[in-house]
Amino acid sequence: MLCPVCGQEILDLEQSCSRCGFDELHKEVTDCDEHIKWLRETVVPYGIRWILSNMMPTEARRVRLVLGWEDGIAHSDEEVARMEDVCVNRIYQHKAKLLRALRRLPCAQKLKELQNV
Ligand SMILES: [Zn+2]
Repeated sequence: MLCPVCGQEILDLEQSCSRCGFDELHKEVTDCDEHIKWLRETVVPYGIRWILSNMMPTEARRVRLVLGWEDGIAHSDEEVARMEDVCVNRIYQHKAKLLRALRRLPCAQKLKELQNV
């Protein structure tokens, strides 16, 4: 099987992914709605945190500010640009980088597929 977060090949006896650390590899989800909920609330957010952990710390902090993950408040791109004293285009670039990486994750592709049914 493949890790739903990063797509790494997983052996049956492995409890967590050696690449991204995800540990709900053997969760049984049979119901489609339950699967969507699990992907949306657990797997995709895990994937976003994993991508952020692989980005430059300053880039990741700015994206977390936009998402509201840094201080609990979701800030606009313009606000974050002012707070960080950078051009707002930098914030767009960081977000685009996250989205590109996110679209490549199996969990995001699967979620999109299931929601379009
Ligand atoms: Zn993984």
